Amino acid sequence: MEGLTKNETIDLRRMHIGKSCALFFAHDPIKIVRAKGQYMYDEEDNEYLDCINNVCHVGHCHPHVVEAGSKQMQILNTNSRFLHDNIVKLAKRLTETLPSELSVVYFTNSGSEANDLALRLAKHHTKQSDMIVLEGAYHGHVISLIDLSTYKLDDMKDGVHNKPKSVHMVACPDIYRGKYRDDEHPKEDLAKLYADDVKELIDVIHNHGDTVSGFIAESMQSCGGQIIYPDGYLQKVFKHVHDAGGVTIMDEVQVGFGRVGNHMWSFQDQGVIPDIVTMGKPMGNGHPIAAVVTTKEISASFASCGAEYFNTYGGNPVSCAIGLAVLDVIELEKLKENALKVGNYVLVKFRQLMDKHQIIGDVRGKGLFVGLDLVKDRKTREPASEEAKYVIARLKEEHILYSRDGPHRNVLKMKPPMCFTEQNVDHLCEKLDMIFKEIKSGQVKLDANNSSSAIEEPPLKKLCTGIGIDTSVLNGTKQS
Ligand code: PMP
Repeated sequence: MEGLTKNETIDLRRMHIGKSCALFFAHDPIKIVRAKGQYMYDEEDNEYLDCINNVCHVGHCHPHVVEAGSKQMQILNTNSRFLHDNIVKLAKRLTETLPSELSVVYFTNSGSEANDLALRLAKHHTKQSDMIVLEGAYHGHVISLIDLSTYKLDDMKDGVHNKPKSVHMVACPDIYRGKYRDDEHPKEDLAKLYADDVKELIDVIHNHGDTVSGFIAESMQSCGGQIIYPDGYLQKVFKHVHDAGGVTIMDEVQVGFGRVGNHMWSFQDQGVIPDIVTMGKPMGNGHPIAAVVTTKEISASFASCGAEYFNTYGGNPVSCAIGLAVLDVIELEKLKENALKVGNYVLVKFRQLMDKHQIIGDVRGKGLFVGLDLVKDRKTREPASEEAKYVIARLKEEHILYSRDGPHRNVLKMKPPMCFTEQNVDHLCEKLDMIFKEIKSGQVKLDANNSSSAIEEPPLKKLCTGIGIDTSVLNGTKQS
């Protein structure tokens, strides 16, 4: 079975891997065989610039992380029911990066497990189960989280899985194309308008005789289309939720560990202290480790329910050695500072592109979490979804891995490994400039079938079939 050809890999995958298990670029997938830093390599050793991998946070296969994991594997790996230094050392290091109130850690193996446990903690602490969530949210793949992830719930067409009554959606504070827009309301009113919706929802829940267990949201919403909340939004929401006896859960699975640039945790940028924080993806640089961090009081409420919490792999010595090594690299290589510097550079360069290309309606971001909202018309802000699809397919041809997201799939989403450089940004912007020019030239046919899958992008040549386009234009050799 060694050394399968790409086609053999695809055939075996078709035969043995569930159809719903998604692939990037599903119509023309890439077989990645190795990676280093912010670069990935396919089976023919073609190099791709990785702009989407927020999992391999400190750079693919970082030697310090690889060494920490392999060293510990040679000594001991076992379940977390034995005393071991790594788990307590990692808990201490993590809590040192958080506000002092957040001092108790539960280790898990995935972001979904972490969020599921967070819901359990909230439930035991408040003795309630009604949750408030943002529209467009994604918090994980287990049933409890699909229940509150409209991002996925909305895709389910068979009517089997529906949103339970205990889940309450509220408008996502997207000031560009949400319920309250910055071209319709004074900017300084937006946080209050969106937060007042939460207050109104709480009143409705109370009027039905129910009580709120909590509010869960990402500190910046990623799947919703790289949404940065208006300043003060979370402070106001937290007050309403606390006044109603609920707890606040901040999901930092995508946006934590310094990605925001000016802080280790994105919620800090909004000046709030949540009751529960969940973290995952970047935590193990690709190795499955995640965590929930909470207060002594909430942890005590959970303990008082009498049930033991046991997670076989959560907090095992190898995962924790890796988690410690990731924190080392973030500190030693000043990756948080790099995210701020390079992230600000991205914003400058993207705004320069915006001056040249009407298709860019909005540039938004913090640190290395940036979105380009593509529009057909800057005034109406009509989403340019097919154009976004084209850009992603073209970037792939230029060996740049990028993704698009948001309810209309028109937001180009950047969340690269944190070692991304200004040279990488220059290279990306050069290619984006070229591709936007292609679109402007009208020489390319856009695919009107804006597939709902977040990862299916047809090969570009297919997008152009039937209309006699000279595809060398698409390779950048001919530009209009
Ligand atoms: N929360 C957020 C915000 C996520 O983006 C994800 C994964 N995309 C999860 C939770 C779930 O994490 P996992 O896939 O590790 O279970």
